[in-house]
Amino acid sequence: MSGDSTGGLTPPGDGPGSGCAETDCADAAEQLQEYLSGELDSETIGAIEAHIHRCGPCLDAYDFHSALRKVVASKCAESMPGDLRSRLVGMLDQAASNPE
Ligand SMILES: [Zn+2]
Repeated sequence: MSGDSTGGLTPPGDGPGSGCAETDCADAAEQLQEYLSGELDSETIGAIEAHIHRCGPCLDAYDFHSALRKVVASKCAESMPGDLRSRLVGMLDQAASNPE
């Protein structure tokens, strides 16, 4: 990504090993996209919110992806072709699944 199209955001780069279980973080990263899309049930939402609040790297990831989605929605929704947009969303999903 180049320029300041994300509004000066920096991607999360801490990775695992910051004091929380890796499996929890992997689950949180997977569910983060669905969470941001509003596709989760209330029980899963509670679980991911609880994890985000106690896990710095996942909170960073949440902040990054939620802010990025807002930027994409507000700045790119009208001008970005649908296939490019879905490719970007796919990249975000991959980035969330592979924090390295
Ligand atoms: Zn975590």
